[in-house]
Amino acid sequence: MAQEAPAPQDDCLFCRIVAKEIPATVVRETETTLAFRDINPQAPTHVLVIPKAHHRDAAALAAADPALAADVLRETQAVADDEQLESYRIVFNTGSGAGQTVFHTHAHVMGGRGLQWPPG
Ligand code: IMP
Repeated sequence: MAQEAPAPQDDCLFCRIVAKEIPATVVRETETTLAFRDINPQAPTHVLVIPKAHHRDAAALAAADPALAADVLRETQAVADDEQLESYRIVFNTGSGAGQTVFHTHAHVMGGRGLQWPPG
């Protein structure tokens, strides 16, 4: 059964991008997701894919709305296709200790250069 979408959070940067209160370079949009270029790119392609509904991180999203989590993953693939990335990395920083700074679920899609492993 479909879940009721969480309310947008006034103090959430990405909710405000979804609401078009803050500009972003949008590359893809679906009914449930938005993809836009990272303001501080770490690779030639660095796009963030977010659910429009507010969930604080990937774990919370997957627990609350697995279908929406699948929408986000599908869109990361679509971004990679649009950007013609043969190799790329999808990252969900989860928790401040892992580098999460915006607490609205987002997948980083990064590619266009060689990427080292393990990341720092
Ligand atoms: P996190 O560190 O995994 O939470 O990623 C947050 C990302 O959001 C960072 O890579 C930031 O550069 C990016 N970011 C912050 N503000 C904006 C914005 O206004 N537009 C696009 N990207 C942003």
